[in-house]
Amino acid sequence: MNIALGFNSEVVDPAFVRSHHPFYNLDGVLGALYTPDDGHVDPSGVTLGLARGARQLGAKIIRQCRATNVQQLPSGEWLVSTEHGDIRCEHVVNAGGTYARQVGDWSGINVPTTSMTHHYFVTETVPEFLQLERELPVIRDDKRVSGYIRMEQKSGLIGIYEKAKPNVVWDDHCPWEAENHLFEADYDRVMPWLENALDRMPIFAELGIKQDVHGAISHPPDGNPLIGPVAEARNYWCCCGTQIGIGWGPGLTRELARWMVHGSADISMRAFDPRRFGSYADKKWQNIKAREDYLLRHEIPFPHFNRLDGRPVKKSPLYDRLKSQGAVFEEIYGHERPRWFATGDEAQRDHYSFRRNIVDERVAEEHRAVRERVGIMDICAFTKVEVSGPDAELLLDRLIANRLPAKQGGICLTHMLNRRGRIEMEMTILNMGEGRYYLTCAAVFEQRLMDHLAHHTAGEAVTITNRSSDWFAMTLQGPRAPEVLAEQVTDSLALADFPWLRGREMEIAGQRVWALRLSYAGEMGWEFHGPRDAMLPLYDALWQSGQPHGIANYGSFAMNTLRMEKMFPGASELTNEVTLPEANVMRFVRSDKDFLGKADSLGQAELPWVCAYLAIEADGIDDGHGGEPVLLDGEVIGSTTSIAMGHSVGRILAFAYIKPAANSPGQQLEVVIANAPRAAVVLGAAAYDPNSERPRGIASAEAAA
Ligand SMILES: Cc1cc2nc3c(=O)[nH]c(=O)nc-3n(C[C@H](O)[C@H](O)[C@H](O)COP(=O)(O)OP(=O)(O)OC[C@H]3O[C@@H](n4cnc5c(N)ncnc54)[C@H](O)[C@@H]3O)c2cc1C
Repeated sequence: MNIALGFNSEVVDPAFVRSHHPFYNLDGVLGALYTPDDGHVDPSGVTLGLARGARQLGAKIIRQCRATNVQQLPSGEWLVSTEHGDIRCEHVVNAGGTYARQVGDWSGINVPTTSMTHHYFVTETVPEFLQLERELPVIRDDKRVSGYIRMEQKSGLIGIYEKAKPNVVWDDHCPWEAENHLFEADYDRVMPWLENALDRMPIFAELGIKQDVHGAISHPPDGNPLIGPVAEARNYWCCCGTQIGIGWGPGLTRELARWMVHGSADISMRAFDPRRFGSYADKKWQNIKAREDYLLRHEIPFPHFNRLDGRPVKKSPLYDRLKSQGAVFEEIYGHERPRWFATGDEAQRDHYSFRRNIVDERVAEEHRAVRERVGIMDICAFTKVEVSGPDAELLLDRLIANRLPAKQGGICLTHMLNRRGRIEMEMTILNMGEGRYYLTCAAVFEQRLMDHLAHHTAGEAVTITNRSSDWFAMTLQGPRAPEVLAEQVTDSLALADFPWLRGREMEIAGQRVWALRLSYAGEMGWEFHGPRDAMLPLYDALWQSGQPHGIANYGSFAMNTLRMEKMFPGASELTNEVTLPEANVMRFVRSDKDFLGKADSLGQAELPWVCAYLAIEADGIDDGHGGEPVLLDGEVIGSTTSIAMGHSVGRILAFAYIKPAANSPGQQLEVVIANAPRAAVVLGAAAYDPNSERPRGIASAEAAA
């Protein structure tokens, strides 16, 4: 049983499989995952049932009526032209299946999905099935079959996701007459896996295939469906790109409806939001990624699995430099971001495991370099947006929960909410002076932030400039950072001259950039932001002056372990599922001012859950991966959102949403990691430097005295 989600599943041995499925050849099988509550439905029956329900609730369904165009009117409404006349509407949903991309083209909207074909085969009647009194479980056999095997009435059904030569169709245009088109079976393509399936199910081996089904399925670049608003126009929604439309359809469309009606879904839709792709996701790239996705369908989804095809997309100015220094990159909103650095002869690639491996050792070294010496990181992937103009202050003040920094150079950490009072995103804001504000947040929010600002501008005179691609961002962190930076500047870096949470435009190594004294690592350090051209010379100069101080590169994995020690919640904790009190970020909220979503966020009579910070005993083997159940006296009271080893404190640290009554410092709990409960305790403050003396420079000032 996956107790965190209440999902019925268990790992079982071959004897269990044999007792439930006596016909399966279990050669080489060590175990299986049993999910007894799964089922299958007749798709047309379900569709008709849903249509009937919709009609009962007042929906009008017009069948046999092709839409021929979708255009936005100057009023903002949409005009859908159809074979049976025009329809004017406030909102339009593109649920065009394999036609979705070309339907999007009518309105200038890029719908990143590619049609790939998939086969299943139905055998003649299986004599052994005739006497069966119950249905056999569906078997998914990733390794040998790369597909699924189940009963179809009294026949056998074998579905194959071949692991070579995936087939793209209708790359340019899906013919209108192609609806539900089935292609001729391509036995050559699927044969090795089909043969393996027959080897697994010997009772099928002598039977003929009475039906082959070879149809097209939509694949977005990362395999997740496209559910939600688009970047290019307002009130245009996607509900497409679904490979498992029957399985996913009900939940996803319920959330889409909530999003359209209430302004936010109830669950985090970040993984499905069409705006997770930018304009870089052109047709050529979609095609490459869809093929990759198809081939990964029956692969093991290891933690931090890195999809490598079609990369690099957006290279930072440091890409080649860092690559030559061992960087292993991950892609985030098209940006290549270093995740960790290989050293010596080590293979410069991902090393996958559910347990600790060599990568964790390197991450621990990078972590310690930042804590004990100085580390430098390419953070170009950050979303970087400038809001300027006479009403910039007015607009931002209305949208953020914290107070906007009043003075030039002031910095604040704050949150923007949607109108239901749930968190849209967390960000840092720098007052650049003269009515200019610089907003930075996680890369995945780039389009979301642009839309949020644009949609909530109510006649204010502001200019919103997306600097995410033409500006760089880099960070220098650690107790030796001041000495390293001092060699490249003439300005004073004394604490009194350049205090914590202040930003200043200055010349560093001959480059005019903004330096922001803040730290996601919880150390003395700076972030640098400015035009891209400045990045490489700046990095080279700092790298050079950092040599005597033992400067090291670090990546996003170390950044994560560092922030976990500092009790800084991140994108996994701060989602549209939670309000400000639930996220436990009230210290960044000014309840004496008004802001979008305030009443709903702060007005809850009772919190259903709250974000707790836990320390968990480490076993040196497995540090968890997120989503672990949290137990109090054996009862599930929540689950983790982020979990990571705190390399400086020697304990595993986690954020978890749990029942509020359990969130008191010192409360003993258990967290189930790799199926075994471990002792955990609620912490009331950061595990490392709880008073933030290090980033404020108090620790180094005291050491110097
Ligand atoms: C061989 C095969 C096996 C599969 N097995 C499974 C499975 O076991 N489980 C599962 O969950 N899924 C399975 N799927 C996938 C599933 O069929 C799809 O995910 C699902 O049908 C997608 O639903 P949809 O509503 O997004 O698109 P569709 O079902 O394609 O519906 C889109 C509709 O929009 C209509 N349309 C498009 N353009 C226009 C226009 N201009 N005007 C009017 N109407 C238009 C189309 O005619 C179509 O009816 C399988 C698919 C195939 C091919």
